[in-house]
Amino acid sequence: MSLSRPVAEILARVSEGRETTQAEAEVLYGATGADLKAICAVADGLRQKVNGDRVGFVVNRNINFTNICYMGCTFCGFAKRREDQGAEWLSLDSIVLRAKEAAARGASEVCIQGGIHPKMPGSYYRDILLAIKAELPDMDIHAFSPFEIWYGAAKLKMSYSDFIADLKECGLGSIPGTAAEILDTEVRRLLTKDKLSAAKWVEIIRAAHSLGVPTTATIMYGHVDGPKHWAAHMALLRDIQQETQGFTELVPLSFVHYDSPLYLDNPGLVRPGPTADEVDAMHAVSRIFLRGQIDNIQTSWAKLGPERAQAMLFKGVNDFGGTLMNESISRAAGSGYGQEVTAYEMVQIIRAAGRVPVQRNTRYEVIEEFAAHDPARQAPLVERQGAPLDFMADLPAFLQEAV
Ligand code: SF4
Repeated sequence: MSLSRPVAEILARVSEGRETTQAEAEVLYGATGADLKAICAVADGLRQKVNGDRVGFVVNRNINFTNICYMGCTFCGFAKRREDQGAEWLSLDSIVLRAKEAAARGASEVCIQGGIHPKMPGSYYRDILLAIKAELPDMDIHAFSPFEIWYGAAKLKMSYSDFIADLKECGLGSIPGTAAEILDTEVRRLLTKDKLSAAKWVEIIRAAHSLGVPTTATIMYGHVDGPKHWAAHMALLRDIQQETQGFTELVPLSFVHYDSPLYLDNPGLVRPGPTADEVDAMHAVSRIFLRGQIDNIQTSWAKLGPERAQAMLFKGVNDFGGTLMNESISRAAGSGYGQEVTAYEMVQIIRAAGRVPVQRNTRYEVIEEFAAHDPARQAPLVERQGAPLDFMADLPAFLQEAV
């Protein structure tokens, strides 16, 4: 089967080294069949040129210190009200304990995010950083989504810049570029009631980058969105990156619908996540569109499952993300791919794809290459997060007041 003319012409321009336009990206994101196959092959070639055969992963632990949140994002299966069964709150001691367990399992990073409880003081974010750094000064702390930065800064009546600068001094290393969802006002109205607007997300990200705090870039796709939104989203990310060079990677996050109110409350109106073609196109076209700007394209095993994530290594992806140890956000939305892929398992998955596994840190510096040897095998981490004891015993006074 031959290629459609528009896709053939765009790919010819890509092969000449020309930057892909937003309009061209929209065409590519909507491709199927032979067109999509050709796009994936081009993306794979670009990945080979830029990253070679090395595929990175980071040994890290997700610590979601609370799922109590009143923001009401409609896609979210994670948030609970304080009186709900399964509501969790981790004390500072519990957070530090988890970070120490992660360090003992070889983690170079802890990824810390939580829900937004209106009674939580903005200073709590710095308390978390200081508590971890006091015990683990070398641990990379990748923490607090732009939603949390927005909340903390507002609570303390600080500018985003001042708030992030303070967090940096307390040990913040980098910020997850989550809460981006789709950077389009209409879509955000449906997804998040536009509480954190696209403009605010961009402002926070720019503030972080200008302070030398890198962030990831994300997109959450496969609900009420489509190629038009994806192309505009990527164009915005590319513009920011051209200016700041502060994004470390792009992480496409497919929408998990099972326990999502957005899907359950709108029968027939919201898609149950992206199609297989859309997953391929998201990774491949993003590689092409962001060429020379964001050169690390990551796949999410927590969303796609390890097997599908491995397949993305042939569609422009060069990074397998984190071992996570306690993945809970995707699980809460109904994803069934578990909490952890250990370093040993990462190495086997990457090697089975014919690539060279490289353990990296948050800043993409190489920690160890596993060309011919394996990391030690590890038993699964004993699940501790979510124990009711954490919630009941450690709940600080400021969270006990009625909302
Ligand atoms: S996505 Fe985050 S901010 Fe929104 S409801 Fe869920 S936990 Fe709260």
